[in-house]
Amino acid sequence: MNGDGCPAEEFRRESERLKRRVIHAPRLGGERWRQVALLYRLADSYGRRVFPRSLCHEKVSAFSGCVTGECCRCRPDVFASEKELLDRLPKPPDNAGYCLFFNIAKKTCGIYGVRPFACRIYYNMASSRLYCQNPADATLQLFDTLKRHVEKILGPHLGGYPPHGPEAG
Ligand code: SF4
Ligand code: SF4
Repeated sequence: MNGDGCPAEEFRRESERLKRRVIHAPRLGGERWRQVALLYRLADSYGRRVFPRSLCHEKVSAFSGCVTGECCRCRPDVFASEKELLDRLPKPPDNAGYCLFFNIAKKTCGIYGVRPFACRIYYNMASSRLYCQNPADATLQLFDTLKRHVEKILGPHLGGYPPHGPEAG
């Protein structure tokens, strides 16, 4: 985003750009780990472009990023291969209502470098903190649109982590 246009229009344009790239990614072929790395790079690139126009940017502190932690009071959406990774990481049995990987003392993500795809594209594009846990429809719609394409690389979408039900094992 160059900062000159309407934020909503820029968000729409960046969302469309991400969709095109994610749809194209599985067609590039190659080893799966390369596709996963590409997918995360695309998500991070999207984040860098959207972030300056998001409420997340306003909440940033000079050294540690957003420290409100509101969006991490959740079970983050994961795909099958992400669950496999998260299953191997140390975590508490519960975390006071936060995601199991949220560092409550620092109020930051404890697994930032390997956080799930959904977390990487999660930005509050509204003007209210109320949306941190319930982001603008556009953000949810973006994830929903991308889901079936991301599944081609990361495996089936399992919902929030840790999953409930038969997949939980
Ligand atoms: S969505 Fe809200 S809580 Fe999450 S990083 Fe952005 S401003 Fe912070
Ligand atoms: S994985 Fe990290 S960014 Fe995602 S919800 Fe958990 S603490 Fe937040």
